[in-house]
Amino acid sequence: MTGLLRKSLCTIALSLAAVSAGNAATLVEPTLHLKPQGEGGGRVALTLDACGGKTDTRILSALVENRIPATVFVTGIWLKHNATALEIMRAHPDLFELENHGGRHIPAVDTPRKIYGISSAGSPDAVQAEVESGAAALASAGGPAPKWFRGATAEYSPSAIAMIRKLGFKIAGFSVNGDGGSLLGAKETARRIAAAKDGDVIIAHINQPTHAAGEGVVQGLLALKQKGMTFVRLDDAEDVGNDGTTTDRFNK
Ligand SMILES: [Zn+2]
Repeated sequence: MTGLLRKSLCTIALSLAAVSAGNAATLVEPTLHLKPQGEGGGRVALTLDACGGKTDTRILSALVENRIPATVFVTGIWLKHNATALEIMRAHPDLFELENHGGRHIPAVDTPRKIYGISSAGSPDAVQAEVESGAAALASAGGPAPKWFRGATAEYSPSAIAMIRKLGFKIAGFSVNGDGGSLLGAKETARRIAAAKDGDVIIAHINQPTHAAGEGVVQGLLALKQKGMTFVRLDDAEDVGNDGTTTDRFNK
């Protein structure tokens, strides 16, 4: 009897271990779409991450000159070192919606691990600190309070997603990976962005001025504009995300 009990307990323990290992391994990369317009040339949202580093003025100037609106996800680190770019964005509130990319560009994953070589936040408290410090940095830069959060690497643990929603943010996935983390060549980046369809949410980077991808971002956007595509910011459209990133009781 005691042997059998021990055996059962061992089985339970093994099952629990398997479950928690499974959870630790499962990260999600949520997608986000706009509600399709269904008529006209279509509608897409351009989202640009400013992870850290500098500003790609090729992209920033093209957006201003061509009146292309964008949602820019900025970190506390980027805000500290890019006052001029921030000033340009602030001078065009009709074009730029600034949202939260975290205080220190740390992945919003609440267990310790590496994602694309970057150490995750590693605990619920650290995820919360990353989200709140990003929002605080935007507030102290004088802007409106952010409503959207996108974590570094755009991967999350499901429990972190739930927590970020409770903090009051929607989580910005995407549906078109425009520049492959800013590592793609100009031609491939342009091709991917130019292929965006009605309802797509494009992700690219605006913080790598020396990368070829930036040139491709501009070419792709101009091609979309020429095709008659309309650009909207995330707050201007009805957005639909999976993995509980936009729709639950916190969704207003
Ligand atoms: Zn980033």
